[in-house]
Amino acid sequence: MSTDIKALAQLAIIDAALKSTEEEIAKARTTVGALEQTIRGHEVKIVGQKTQLGDLEKRQKEAHADVRSMTQQLEHSRDKMNRSRTERETNAVQREMEELRKLIRDRENEIEKLNAEAKQITDTVDTETGALGQVKGELDTLHGPANAKLAELENDRQRQVDERSAIAKTMNQPLFRKYESIRAKRGSGVTTTTDGTCKACHMALAPQLFHRIRREPIIEQCPSCNRLIYFAPPEPPTAAS
Ligand SMILES: [Zn+2]
Repeated sequence: MSTDIKALAQLAIIDAALKSTEEEIAKARTTVGALEQTIRGHEVKIVGQKTQLGDLEKRQKEAHADVRSMTQQLEHSRDKMNRSRTERETNAVQREMEELRKLIRDRENEIEKLNAEAKQITDTVDTETGALGQVKGELDTLHGPANAKLAELENDRQRQVDERSAIAKTMNQPLFRKYESIRAKRGSGVTTTTDGTCKACHMALAPQLFHRIRREPIIEQCPSCNRLIYFAPPEPPTAAS
């Protein structure tokens, strides 16, 4: 076997491995990316709801402060009532107190509504936080191994890239460039024939071409798929078959 044929055979093996390594890297990144996106979605929701809850708490405090100050006013009115001398004065203070009691009731109703709203938001935040925790747990379970796998795959890729450039250096350079340009278009740059058909595109080679490449170790191109092609002798039958 010529050294170029040997190099091409090695390149084909490494490039096929490299392709599957890169596909696995892409898959591993997609898995990790999807989990991280889900987590971010939950986090954004939680932040939004906590802001809403903060606004509600501010309104609750204001309402409580109002109730306190109106209750104090009511005390003053009671004192005024005790000091009032005429019926007119007493009636006026009574109206004032009625008004205040009504205002206090309204504010207290409002506080109840705010409490209910706050409870609902707190429940939602709890649910979201629970879901976030669950996804985070899943991510942690997957993240470590996925990252380790990713690092391993990146190492594999680097090793394969180094290996292929070492092989490329030993090759006839125009041949290597041709291999690269065919590989870029077809996904693989080289094929073989054992019985006169191209193993990549399964088209029959012209008999003269097949005879020529079977006779001597030369590299040609498949007329159908353009891949570099050389003759591979039939595999000897194995003990198992
Ligand atoms: Zn072909």
